[in-house]
Amino acid sequence: MRVFIGVGSNEGDRLARISAAVQALGGTPGVRLVQMAPLLETEPVGGPPQGLYLNTVVELDTTLAPHELLSVLQAIERQLGRRPSPERWAPRPIDLDVLLYGDQVIREPDLSVPHPRLHERRFVLEPLAQLAPDLVHPVLGETIATLLDRLPVRALPVG
Ligand code: ADP
Ligand code: MG
Repeated sequence: MRVFIGVGSNEGDRLARISAAVQALGGTPGVRLVQMAPLLETEPVGGPPQGLYLNTVVELDTTLAPHELLSVLQAIERQLGRRPSPERWAPRPIDLDVLLYGDQVIREPDLSVPHPRLHERRFVLEPLAQLAPDLVHPVLGETIATLLDRLPVRALPVG
C-alpha cells in the first residue's frame, strides 16, 4: 500500500528528531521508504505560543494494516521523547500522522484517514504536492496540487 506520513517537530534538535523518525520508519519490518519531501520551516498553527516547526512528508510502501502503522508511529513518537500532553497543539519533539493510506477512507475514533485537516494545512500540502501533485484526495475528489492552489495565500486573524 502506498502511504503518506506527515512529519513535524518544534522542540529540541528538530532535524535530528526528524532524521531519527524517518530512519526508524525505514527500519520497520513491512515498511519501505520511497521518498521524502524537502524540509519546510513553518509557523505553529493554534495552541500556545511556541517555536517554529520543521515539517516534511514521507512516502512509504507498506504491508502494515492502518492500525498497525498507527501503532508503529506512536511507538516512534514515544521513543523520541513525546509525552502525552493534556493540551491540544502543544509543542512536540515529534509528530507523525497518517495523511493518506492508499485511497482508503477510515473514520474511527483513534484513526481518521485521509487526515481530516490535510486539505487546509499548507505545511502538509506543500511537501505532499512535491511528492504526489496528481494524487487525488479520496474524499474531496481533487488533486493535491489543486487543493494547494486553493489555499488562501495567508490565514489572517479575524476580528
Ligand atoms: P495532532 O497530530 O492532531 O496534533 P496528536 O498527534 O496528539 O494530534 O494525536 C492525537 C490522536 O490522533 C492520536 O491518539 C491518534 O489516535 C489520533 N489520530 C486520528 N487520526 C490520525 C491519523 N490519521 N494519524 C495519526 N493520528 C491520528
Ligand atoms: Mg499527530
